[in-house]
Amino acid sequence: MSDLRDHSAAELQKIRRNNLERRLKTISSEIGPEIICEGSTLLNFSSNNYLGLADHPALKKAALEATALWGTGSGASRLITGSQAPHSALEKKIATFKRTEAALVFNSGYHANLGVIPTLTGKGDLIASDELNHASLIDAARLSKAATRVYPHNDVAELAQILRAHGAGKKLIVTDSVFSMDGDLAPLPEILKLAEEHDAWLFVDEAHGTGVFGKTGRGVVEHFGIPPDHPRLIQMGTLGKALGSFGAYVCGPRELIDLLINRARTFIYTTALPPGVAAASMAAIDLISNDFSLSKKLWENIGYFSEQLKKIGLISPIGPISPILIGDSQKTMAASQKLFEAGIWATGIRPPTVPEGTARLRLTLMATHTRAHLDQCLTALERVLK
Ligand SMILES: *Cc1c(COP(=O)(O)O)cnc(C)c1O
Repeated sequence: MSDLRDHSAAELQKIRRNNLERRLKTISSEIGPEIICEGSTLLNFSSNNYLGLADHPALKKAALEATALWGTGSGASRLITGSQAPHSALEKKIATFKRTEAALVFNSGYHANLGVIPTLTGKGDLIASDELNHASLIDAARLSKAATRVYPHNDVAELAQILRAHGAGKKLIVTDSVFSMDGDLAPLPEILKLAEEHDAWLFVDEAHGTGVFGKTGRGVVEHFGIPPDHPRLIQMGTLGKALGSFGAYVCGPRELIDLLINRARTFIYTTALPPGVAAASMAAIDLISNDFSLSKKLWENIGYFSEQLKKIGLISPIGPISPILIGDSQKTMAASQKLFEAGIWATGIRPPTVPEGTARLRLTLMATHTRAHLDQCLTALERVLK
């Protein structure tokens, strides 16, 4: 066996040869529309802080007050002594917001997906999964030991074939609602119809839908007018993206939530979120339930940016995520670096986050971007991509 350092260095060398090495850059500011990175001030076009809540005074105040009252740490998992009042208050608030019977909070979206999917499916069952689903859904399917069939992106006909071909055992369809690296939507009404026809359940990951899509920010399920308490539907969403806090939720019928409390290993065997985090999440839900101005501003920015991108010959997005496909990993990183030098933070996304040959810049918009920010980004894009 080789030395640990030599082994790691050799593996890193392989990653570097394929232009796939990733490095951390330290940001010494809040994650607002302008960020400070290694001495430069940059316009931030890469965060998932779509509504600008991660640096919002109402959330900071809620977190500080709850921390003063409840402490910094929860001290144990929820089933031991970590289930403080803010956690259950948050779950009530989420269930009311999402109009479902009950909700359960997990420490992150990754935890939620890894907890729920193996709770619902196992050996002999089927998971039908979109090829562009988030890594956490792929890992969750592996962990479940169910037979996983991957269908081409949003291909409802292929999904129907897969469901039809499966005999005994439970069937679970798993999909992002907003695809994280492409920004497009899953055709949820058609998929749900298939779930009904083939006696399957539908697990929807609203990580990028919550707070952004739907008339009142309840996600893509609301956008399509799907009843939130549909008996075949399991909704999951995160609290760390548009909601500006941290953690994730799963919502559905009371019995499903009680089953998860008993079986979801990523809920049972982990220390509960800090109470201050739960309080910040509650403040975020209160804020977006009562004040639609941030959402309105985000969608105005999306409308403007979309139109301007079309004018410079780029694909216009339907939401806050704009993928600019380049293909080659090295070219993508070079474009990202040029934008960085022009004062724009637009991260390059490479395999394995996206399929081979589809490296891209992934630009994201925020409610707190000004028109001047958007124009500066568009000008830089036009220059760098020419
Ligand atoms: C970010 C993301 C997750 C993971 O959520 P975290 O709270 O960041 O762990 C899960 N699914 C999708 C689609 C995501 O984009």
